[in-house]
Amino acid sequence: MGWRDIDVYWMRKALVLAKQAEKQGEVPVGAVLLLNGTLIVTASNQTITQCDPTAHAEMLVLRKAAKTVNNHRLLGSTLYVTLEPCLMCTGAMIHARISRLVFAAYDNPSVTSGSVFSILQNQGIHHRFLITDGLLADESAEILREFFVQRRRGLN
Ligand SMILES: [Zn+2]
Repeated sequence: MGWRDIDVYWMRKALVLAKQAEKQGEVPVGAVLLLNGTLIVTASNQTITQCDPTAHAEMLVLRKAAKTVNNHRLLGSTLYVTLEPCLMCTGAMIHARISRLVFAAYDNPSVTSGSVFSILQNQGIHHRFLITDGLLADESAEILREFFVQRRRGLN
């Protein structure tokens, strides 16, 4: 498998997690974290279930991964997430010193207060990571779009 095939493989796992979140009435976002190429943890968005505004899929994988490897720094990790991370999650990824981010759908910058790209361009940032954007973006965007259509109809 080439790198892109590997990325697609893990993003598909994240999309399955997003669909699981949707079944719980959560905004469908899934995340997977690998450390040096090995799967460490997976999570889906849990803000309603956990009654926690910070329980985004990315925050949950960062927390769980740090506990799992007993290290608050996740050097050598790649985080796959089905939606472009928000300001909070981007900040957490910087603190966690992840090495690479792969995301699928693009978020609305007006909601996230600036894209992950603009945050990382900030001069004061002490850690940067590689970004692969838009991988399986259409599939993820369709899952999100369908979720919000259903919600507007009052079906979830
Ligand atoms: Zn977030």
